[in-house]
Amino acid sequence: MDNSVLWSKILDKIKSEINSLSFQTWFEETELYELNNGIAKIVVPLAIHKNHIFNNYNELIKNCFLDITGNQVEIELCLKDDIINVKRENNEEQHESHNNVDSNIYNNNFINSNLNSKYSFDNFVVGNSNKFAHAAALAVAENPGKMYNPLFIYGNSGLGKTHLMHAIGNYIHKNSDKKVLYVTSEQFVSDFIGINRKDENGTNFSYIDFFKQKYRNIDVLIIDDIQYLGGATETQKEFFHTFNNLYGDNKQIIISSDRSPEDLKILESRLRTRFCWGLTVDIFPPDFELRVAILKKRIIGEAINKEIPDEVIEYMATNLGSDIRQLEGALTRLVAYSTFMGSEIDLNLAIEALKDYVYKGISEKNDVNKIQKVVAEYFQISTDDLKSKKRNSNISFPRQIAMYLCRKLTDESFPKIGIEFGGKDHSTVMHSCEKIEREISVNKDLADTIQKLENEIK
Ligand code: ADP
Ligand code: MG
Repeated sequence: MDNSVLWSKILDKIKSEINSLSFQTWFEETELYELNNGIAKIVVPLAIHKNHIFNNYNELIKNCFLDITGNQVEIELCLKDDIINVKRENNEEQHESHNNVDSNIYNNNFINSNLNSKYSFDNFVVGNSNKFAHAAALAVAENPGKMYNPLFIYGNSGLGKTHLMHAIGNYIHKNSDKKVLYVTSEQFVSDFIGINRKDENGTNFSYIDFFKQKYRNIDVLIIDDIQYLGGATETQKEFFHTFNNLYGDNKQIIISSDRSPEDLKILESRLRTRFCWGLTVDIFPPDFELRVAILKKRIIGEAINKEIPDEVIEYMATNLGSDIRQLEGALTRLVAYSTFMGSEIDLNLAIEALKDYVYKGISEKNDVNKIQKVVAEYFQISTDDLKSKKRNSNISFPRQIAMYLCRKLTDESFPKIGIEFGGKDHSTVMHSCEKIEREISVNKDLADTIQKLENEIK
């Protein structure tokens, strides 16, 4: 049993013996540094912990060790700084045993969880488009590894995936002693590539150790933007092992992506299948009300001490598109602009300050609208027909073509296209696209028609 597993068992036992406030205060940030020759070296955060634990809990800790390992141990309490200093001295003395890296250094909870404390459930505004994702995230935060594993969150950029993932991590970190690690998939890839890089002595053992400790010795792995994991089989294989390992130990895995698992074509199918084992939730673009609510919350949260009239907020919520990151950027710009110009914020100032943002919002929106218009005109139906639920083939066929063209010619995701077509499910859009793709390959007339439409749209 490795030290961190052993220690978490011991902590569980201690937790069951004392009240939760004492546990939090005295044990939450402790680590088992090493267990050698019958001495358990435990790292505590402050000197006050050292004294208090020694005077009050020494026997309890010893008994817990005896129960779990069957051995008598002596307890030695030390501070994090002591360990770091000893390590530094040892390293200076032991050049020759350089390769013999003490893997304990990674056993401790000093690994950075990479969590950003700025993102919490408290400052995540819930609306229709993210209600489900939010609820799932909270359920996982309250019960990591038990309810939904893995949790897969997907949606377009700027809709709050990263925010939710950090919120889960922060919640778990705050309410339990579980080790959380947040990484982007690029970080995972670069750590993995490090394994294959040899150090100056021609070995890479220390790094393999580091990698395994980093990714396997945790309770919660949060991996953001999995679409960037890349096509390299070796990387995917390693991720597959990491996944299996954690999953097998009931460790929580949380994944995000800009598209659904089945749409992650770059990944091996065995990975995609695994992603669907738990719960998959999508985040949709925020509606008007949610955009207004997010802006208002942001104004309070950032302690912006300028008066921003409702009509300005509504103007922003109407004209800036659905990317929340962009909405926030626009707000920052508006406030800076008004400071710079020395004028109050009113509608005219907002229009002036945000003209670049607004232009961008509209042009993005136009793509889908334009495709719908061109297709509707060609088939002599209305764009409302395209967005309707009508199933007769003179309407459903053009609708499928229009969906296919939206997917091909814009960056929109399946769910987003579904919304633009009167709230169709993402799987309907996906099947439409696949169907048209198949037919084009066998039906030359259709291929020509679509080519003609494409020329007109571009
Ligand atoms: P994604 O990872 O989906 O691209 P982010 O999580 O980075 O998006 O969100 C972009 C910005 O929008 C962040 O600053 C985030 O705090 C903010 N944001 C997104 N959704 C919400 C929400 N529901 N409430 C408050 N802020 C949000
Ligand atoms: Mg993100």
